[in-house]
Amino acid sequence: MELLRTPEAMRAWADGRRAGGVRIGLVPTMGYLHEGHASLVRIAAARGCGKVVASIFVNPAQFGPGEDYEKYPRDEARDLATLRAAGTSAVYLPGVADMYPDGYQTYVEVGDVSQGLCGAARPGHFRGVATVVAKLFLAAKPHVAVFGEKDYQQLAVIRALARDLDFGIEIVGAPIVREEDGLAMSSRNAYLKGDDRIAARCLSRGLFRAKALFDGGERDAGKLVAAARKEIKAEPRAALNYAEGRDPVTLAPLSGEVAAVTILVAARVGPARLIDNVTLGT
Ligand code: AMP
Repeated sequence: MELLRTPEAMRAWADGRRAGGVRIGLVPTMGYLHEGHASLVRIAAARGCGKVVASIFVNPAQFGPGEDYEKYPRDEARDLATLRAAGTSAVYLPGVADMYPDGYQTYVEVGDVSQGLCGAARPGHFRGVATVVAKLFLAAKPHVAVFGEKDYQQLAVIRALARDLDFGIEIVGAPIVREEDGLAMSSRNAYLKGDDRIAARCLSRGLFRAKALFDGGERDAGKLVAAARKEIKAEPRAALNYAEGRDPVTLAPLSGEVAAVTILVAARVGPARLIDNVTLGT
């Protein structure tokens, strides 16, 4: 497994693989990896990528003032072991000064799909995400890039980015990997201790409750969302940020009778801001 620490090294590696006719898969991450991340590497390989490159970069541009950039968990040695075990060919680990050197002044803004939900709660977040992902695409030159549905709005932003800027990269969405008790795996789960860890189950419990109603025939988007919201609000250790029903493709707000809906939730539990979602009816 090769380690590449600068955009130049990443580009040279990618050019070499492309010259050899290899299909490159890219899995961008912020490190502190878990089984959800490993699943993305395996999905890229299963999509016919002869080489899979994972990136590890805690991107300061996507954190707001007062957010957890400084304390975001980091463990490079463990991450490299996880990636090696998952079959990763190369790891791109640029430094902040490599990505944003003095004089850096270029940012990418994706429109409607960046608005609302986490875009409202975290101003500038998706501008930072779109910018860093564009830079990763240009350095790693992948044919395929895999992103988790865990970050559903982010996946929609990246689909728009890849399409609108003609990257010619196939964007693949990967299913959410969960802990046994339903909690969506997340690097930020490391912040959850004791009662907060138990309380964090309320997000997935709410979504599963909505799914049970949908499976039982309920099609009113408002009622499905209300069921998820109720579970989260009933948990005293959780502070609900949002619970919304959106179109699974466009993320446009939905109400009334629906054939398909994605319910997205965000809540703070102790020190952690957690997000989760479920898509019903597709
Ligand atoms: P992060 O390191 O949190 O920025 O996540 C890197 C990639 O892993 C993103 O595409 C995430 O959506 C994806 N990811 C994170 N958690 C999960 C999970 N539990 N299941 C599937 N994909 C995930």
